[in-house]
Amino acid sequence: MPAPPLPVVESVTAELRLSYVLRHFREAYVGVPTVTIGYEATQPQIEVADANHDFFAGTAPYPPEPNWREWGGQRLPFFFDESLELPLLELLPASRAHINADVISAAFYLLSGWQEFFSDERDQHGRFPYAASVQARYGFVAVPVVNYYFDVLKTAVEHVTGQPLHPHRWAGGATWAACITHDIDNLYSAWKAPAKAALRRGNLLSFGRQLWRHFTQKDAWDNLELVQKTVAEYGAKSTFFFLPEHRKDPNGTPNADYRYNQIGQSVDSLLQAGAKVELHASLGSSTNPNKLHYDAEQICHLGPTSQGLRFHYLSWEPRITPALVDDLLFAYDSTLGFAEHYGFRNSYCLPFRPFNFQRGMAADFLEIPLNVMDTTFHHPRYLQLAPEEILPALLPMFEEIERFGGVATVLWHNENFDSANQRNGPVQFRTIMEYLRSRNVAFRTCGDIWRQMYALSS
Ligand SMILES: [Zn+2]
Repeated sequence: MPAPPLPVVESVTAELRLSYVLRHFREAYVGVPTVTIGYEATQPQIEVADANHDFFAGTAPYPPEPNWREWGGQRLPFFFDESLELPLLELLPASRAHINADVISAAFYLLSGWQEFFSDERDQHGRFPYAASVQARYGFVAVPVVNYYFDVLKTAVEHVTGQPLHPHRWAGGATWAACITHDIDNLYSAWKAPAKAALRRGNLLSFGRQLWRHFTQKDAWDNLELVQKTVAEYGAKSTFFFLPEHRKDPNGTPNADYRYNQIGQSVDSLLQAGAKVELHASLGSSTNPNKLHYDAEQICHLGPTSQGLRFHYLSWEPRITPALVDDLLFAYDSTLGFAEHYGFRNSYCLPFRPFNFQRGMAADFLEIPLNVMDTTFHHPRYLQLAPEEILPALLPMFEEIERFGGVATVLWHNENFDSANQRNGPVQFRTIMEYLRSRNVAFRTCGDIWRQMYALSS
């Protein structure tokens, strides 16, 4: 699916980059004192090197190759860094500091989603492919590089003001948070794959048995209560994203295998158990306001007032979707992760405002970035990890999120709570949950996270 034509955009000035990035910096720490941070011309207390900024006047998706520098024990890419011979940070007398790489422009580039907006690359579902990203090209998808840039700024601010800065705490004083989510695509299709396999083998007896079970027993994926109870064992409540469209996309890709208006009882039980119910927006809705509006209405029809969403298939057209989510006044989205790889699509481990290039300002909705999706681990086009390799693969990423007080957002589909799945099934989910609990994470729903972040920014 090709990218739509590039829309007309507002010019991205140095002032715009500064205000967008510093807004996020101030939200990342408690009570950041007033310090002037900027480029040479304004003679700020913290002066950031002014790299060649013709880049932001153009429409090229990728900046020049980054320099690699060490900070906080990590080797990190610094885009817009033209003075590798100078130290990254110089702490000067008289309450001044110099940062010799343009961390403001680099943070803007990654956080805003510049690469996917200006790149024409899309995969067969119309998504910006991981393979086309700077994260893949330079190998830093599991490192929240923007948080490290902020750590450089933080060190400068601490020097200039003499006051230590701390990240915000989550509920119960926890240093970091986890957001457990489930996209509900299928409730009635567990029987299909084994029945088809039996038919292919010519095993009619087994086929007949699958069919009999299908007509007489509850489907193994009709398991929402099991999902809710499994999560509750860890003291957590999760966010369920329901898909109100059961008709296939015109190109044949499936939406839900159930009708949302016929499962009201299950939805009620979830709500009574404290789970949250939100919109899983159908195929095509990420580029079509009428379709998105229709989907949102269906969810509200059954009771819950949907305030957030995630798109089915992680559909996201960078040139259209952010403006659409803003126009329809959603409070938050949690779509932005790469389907092909766990990690940080915007190189940031806290919720943030994507950039609305058409309006030339931060989007109104909050993005709660998606870090871990069950289907990533075992898929012909994604990763092929053995079950016991999953948690070890994720650990360095979780450690980064904990270090910066961020949010680990995990998507585990209800169909992967079926005990027949031993690759990325309930056992692997529990291993992740046990790890998160052992690190004293605060389990929060997407709505909880939005409320906390909203209180910070208003
Ligand atoms: Zn889905």
